[in-house]
Amino acid sequence: MTPTTSKVIFVALAIGWYLIRYKYARRSRRARVVRSARGPLETTLLLISLSGLGLVPLVYVAIGIPHFADRSFYPSLAWLGSLIAIAALGMFHLTHRALGRNWSISLDVRENHELVTEGVYRRVRHPMYSAFWLWAIAQALLLPNWVAGFAGLIGFGILYFGRVAKEERMMLETFRDSYRVYMERTGRIFPSIR
Ligand code: SAH
Repeated sequence: MTPTTSKVIFVALAIGWYLIRYKYARRSRRARVVRSARGPLETTLLLISLSGLGLVPLVYVAIGIPHFADRSFYPSLAWLGSLIAIAALGMFHLTHRALGRNWSISLDVRENHELVTEGVYRRVRHPMYSAFWLWAIAQALLLPNWVAGFAGLIGFGILYFGRVAKEERMMLETFRDSYRVYMERTGRIFPSIR
């Protein structure tokens, strides 16, 4: 594995990531939004996350900026990053398939929104965010640059910690006891050990 191969793997899997999202985003667009917790803060968080996971690494892969932050390349880290990125992609696909038309890029409840509690949602409440965490870890392992590598963890981390409690509040207000019971038997991004 060379630094170039590592970057090519990152870009190829990032395209796969985008294609999965594109396919399901088109489907869910047809379902009307009946309640939303979107706002300026939520939009800002989303832009920060998109920059860290998309813009910053893509600029780095394309033109090598920022040079000052280059770090040594270790093939073993890049191999590990590839495996984690593939796992993240698989997980991302499963969560999109399970959520179907209930998916939204932000915090929305759609018409006839169904609470999904099976499949990858059985033991984890936010498996799509688990997939994003895995992807961000893979980015740090695959890209031998401190800024481009860690931008994903920082960008997504800011979105995750700024959003997850608000999302759960919205789900509780919408699904009441069903979500409360669901929360008791699940963990946020790891399976609950109870
Ligand atoms: N937090 C989830 C979903 C991310 S997509 C995950 O990480 O897997 C965000 C949208 O998913 C929100 O607008 C919310 O309405 C919806 N959502 C979150 N959990 C859900 C669930 N268990 N069932 C159905 N929709 C859900």
